[in-house]
Amino acid sequence: MPSTAPTVALNSGSPKGQAGLDAAALKREFPILSRTVNGRPLVYLDNAATSQKPQAVIDAITGYYTDINANIHRGVHWLSQQATGQYEAARESARRFINAEFLEEIVFVRGTTEAINLVAQTYGRTRIGKGDEIVISHLEHHSNIVPWQILCAELGATLRVVPINDAGEFMFDEYVGFLNERTRLVATAHVSNALGTIMPVREIVATAHARGIPVLLDGAQAVPHMKVDVQSLDVDFYTFSGHKMFGPTGIGVLYGKSSWLNSLPPWQGGGDMILSVSFDGTVYNKPPFKFEAGTPNIEGGIGLGAAIQWLENVGIERVTAYEEDLLAYGTAELLKVPGLKLIGTARHKAGVLSFTLEGIHPHDIGTILDQAGIAIRTGHHCAQPVMDRFKVPATARASLALYNTREDIDDLVHGLDQVVRMFR
Ligand code: PMP
Repeated sequence: MPSTAPTVALNSGSPKGQAGLDAAALKREFPILSRTVNGRPLVYLDNAATSQKPQAVIDAITGYYTDINANIHRGVHWLSQQATGQYEAARESARRFINAEFLEEIVFVRGTTEAINLVAQTYGRTRIGKGDEIVISHLEHHSNIVPWQILCAELGATLRVVPINDAGEFMFDEYVGFLNERTRLVATAHVSNALGTIMPVREIVATAHARGIPVLLDGAQAVPHMKVDVQSLDVDFYTFSGHKMFGPTGIGVLYGKSSWLNSLPPWQGGGDMILSVSFDGTVYNKPPFKFEAGTPNIEGGIGLGAAIQWLENVGIERVTAYEEDLLAYGTAELLKVPGLKLIGTARHKAGVLSFTLEGIHPHDIGTILDQAGIAIRTGHHCAQPVMDRFKVPATARASLALYNTREDIDDLVHGLDQVVRMFR
């Protein structure tokens, strides 16, 4: 397998190298980031939608298909053993990355969306009934709303939504008031993709657990930016997607405490999730395989493993410190743009800058910036209730990753100044 270590020094002494991370040098490890778009150097600021991939991840995927492609867990032949070895090594990398206690607690899934649906279909169908309640928050991504709505409709349960304040912060006192003897699950984001709010997850978990209620955290926007330790959080289920953390699409992780995964039923039937099958009865495999029916995304797992190793080599604490600094810079610079309003001003925020420009539709902002090679996201960000909360149809959103620099922010601000000039 190719080396996944970053090829650049982390402490280069560059003027933009706050927190000992040289983003400009890391950027050079991402081939796509040196291309031009619409004749201009690409400025990629849509990382909350998906991140770009370093050469190490591309090499791992190419290497899999070039050298060892085979189905896993089945073959006695050499290729199958190699492929199985790399796939299972990726599982161990994921375990280490989030500090899960046991390897069996790492279920490979398609992404965060599938992970949440898995919990809804297994935990939800067996542990929730008529009149029970599930608690989420107002800032959830649709993937942490709709699976629960479907479940509640089927079971006659109720979805309760903890409000957020004008800054986009979780209203903790209201949350505590929502928990009662009918509450069967709390499911919230760790970090909001639409607002950047970092949720008080430690307190959310502890408060629910004090009442015997399990907690699922949607970590899609957390793992690329901050250290996550599922044991220290004591969370029951934790979900994330490979493609937002420099890995491939179509692969992600459901972490579940082993006590849960051992007691929950499977959700999809097929190959690999069984120990034996006969028409008299089938014996299921143990976790995590019980939840992984069929040939999995082998290249995705291996690519995710490479992404995790790459990110570990960069150092996640460094990433957090660097991005905090960049967010502060970006916030200050954006607020200089006439008519710009930030949506999401939580005290604890990750690198998401959602905003509106007075009198200009976000789609126009995105289209004009695109002409300058600047990629941001515009729309509801799969969080329509957030848009309703702030009474806007959409926002423009610049979202940061470890390879973004102050120059990227300066280009964005310059582009926005041009947008304003065109419309005024
Ligand atoms: N939750 C959050 C907070 C997200 O940002 C996203 C992706 N935008 C998802 C869930 C869904 O992730 P995926 O599409 O990779 O399943």
